[in-house]
Amino acid sequence: MTVRQLTIGCFALLAAVLPYLGLLPGWTPALATITAFAALSLIGLNLIFGVTGMLALGQAAFVALPGYLAGIMHVSGVPAIVAIPLGIASAVLIARLVAEIFIRLPGIYFAIGTLGLAFVVEGLARAFPSITGGASGLMLEPPVAMQADGWYILAVVSVALGTASFAWLVRGRFLRTLKLVRHDELAAQVLGINVARVKAQAFTIGSTYSAVGGILLAYYVRVLAPESGGVNASLEALAMVVIGGSGSVFGPLLGAAAIHWLFAVAGGAERFELLVYGLGFFLVVLYAPAGIVGALRLGWAIGEAQLGQRGAGTPAPAAAPPMTARDAAAVRAASAREGTCLELENVSKHFGGLRAVQDVSFTVRFGQIVALIGPNGAGKSTLFNVISGIEMPTQGRILLQGADIGELPIHRRAASIGRSFQVPRLVPDLTPIDNVVARLDHLPGDAREIDGQRVARAQLEAFGLSALADRPVNQIGLGYHKLIELVRASAGQPPLLLLDEPAVGLTADEVTQLADLLRLLKSQGAAILVVEHNVGFVETVADEIVVMDSGRLIAQGTPQAVMTNPEVRDAYLGALT
Ligand code: ADP
Ligand code: MG
Repeated sequence: MTVRQLTIGCFALLAAVLPYLGLLPGWTPALATITAFAALSLIGLNLIFGVTGMLALGQAAFVALPGYLAGIMHVSGVPAIVAIPLGIASAVLIARLVAEIFIRLPGIYFAIGTLGLAFVVEGLARAFPSITGGASGLMLEPPVAMQADGWYILAVVSVALGTASFAWLVRGRFLRTLKLVRHDELAAQVLGINVARVKAQAFTIGSTYSAVGGILLAYYVRVLAPESGGVNASLEALAMVVIGGSGSVFGPLLGAAAIHWLFAVAGGAERFELLVYGLGFFLVVLYAPAGIVGALRLGWAIGEAQLGQRGAGTPAPAAAPPMTARDAAAVRAASAREGTCLELENVSKHFGGLRAVQDVSFTVRFGQIVALIGPNGAGKSTLFNVISGIEMPTQGRILLQGADIGELPIHRRAASIGRSFQVPRLVPDLTPIDNVVARLDHLPGDAREIDGQRVARAQLEAFGLSALADRPVNQIGLGYHKLIELVRASAGQPPLLLLDEPAVGLTADEVTQLADLLRLLKSQGAAILVVEHNVGFVETVADEIVVMDSGRLIAQGTPQAVMTNPEVRDAYLGALT
């Protein structure tokens, strides 16, 4: 057990008995019970918004819905002990359906759609008073009579379980996946993530926390008011998550506690409510973007530094385990690498009347570096997008190792295609190791955490980047981002590499290093297609050059032949001199 875990444990224990110590004015067992149930439901919003970055503006709908459903079922004769789980299950099912509908929409529509949902839930509760109790609320009778202390114990146990399950669930592969989706959906797809499915998962799991916390709170206070499922309640929940520390494990707990306590000591003065939320938002956004948790963490780090024990907790690197099934598969795949890898047959891509790519055919063999050059607007990036599935071809076929991949969605091509972008698309708050493992996570084969870490470390080392491996990317110079992205693209040894202008922005030394790395990948059997403007680089590294102009392929051959071709000099090289 580390010092940190021990400290957290002691604080948790202290927090649990705090209402009985009378140390904090206004912090009664009743208030602590309400806070704990509210915090449990906020864990859901923290997963959806805090971690995954989906702006759910109507999450209170799923907090109130299960209580309403259970209460209504109970009135019509279903025993409460059955109605409660049924209420939760129905609310989760509705969340799943909502996810199906809204998740594919761009972020702002998701926000508006979920906002509408909160209006609908509050609206339904108000519109049918004979069923829902209308404005005065729906009375709820708990299935078993419990004393106040019993409720408090239930609340503490359930929020502890909620927090622990969140910490257990949202780590490793799932956390990397969610961070990628949050940061860059296109990059996530190119790395093999089915973005719509992951977002639907996060929304459904999150709404389950919302529903469980919500129904427990409703049965504790024994009444469910329409506004508890509405937009105001949803925005208050968002405020609590942000103030507590969005995305962190203890954020919901601290945010709920701080806000509930503030209102209690303010004497429950409702006229201050909006003011407190508003100021809370301002202060957090301006001074503590990571919320209370962020501020505590900073304090902890300063304390640790003063005690001189920083870095003491760094674990020793694990010894290399024996070869896994995935390693073996990679070796087999690598040894099967000969002949043609990528074959483009009369590929065209039109945007309305604009013929961005017209009737382009060429091949890239295993162990071959083909450079794609041409003036701006020639259609190079469009061709890359067609090959990686970001754009569907208007005409023609794309064959990868003999199989037609023209219809596959982006994420299903990830195992066969490693791609780097013209502007690197790494996750800034992850280390290079985690950025690379994020690709390995979604390749076929066994995905044990320790193997991924080992493979990523080895690959970074092979590329001479070991020294940077464990530092967050946002603390690493931009020049290295392209190289790190190259490591990520080539991790897992995909048969085909698509590299978009890898040498742009690199120093002369880094360009030399890049050329060596490409030769290394080529020697491992990869087929490499690279778009590049740096003619010197292209001439030294490419086996073959393909030239495009106005969507058409105008020349193809060895660097020597192409560079002396008069048509190429006219279209492209002439413009450079
Ligand atoms: P390159 O990468 O060779 O500079 P591009 O492939 O980016 O060229 O662009 C080729 C042509 O296609 C350009 O005229 C560009 O404006 C057009 N184009 C690219 N993407 C789109 C798009 N999504 N919609 C409409 N036109 C596009
Ligand atoms: Mg381009």
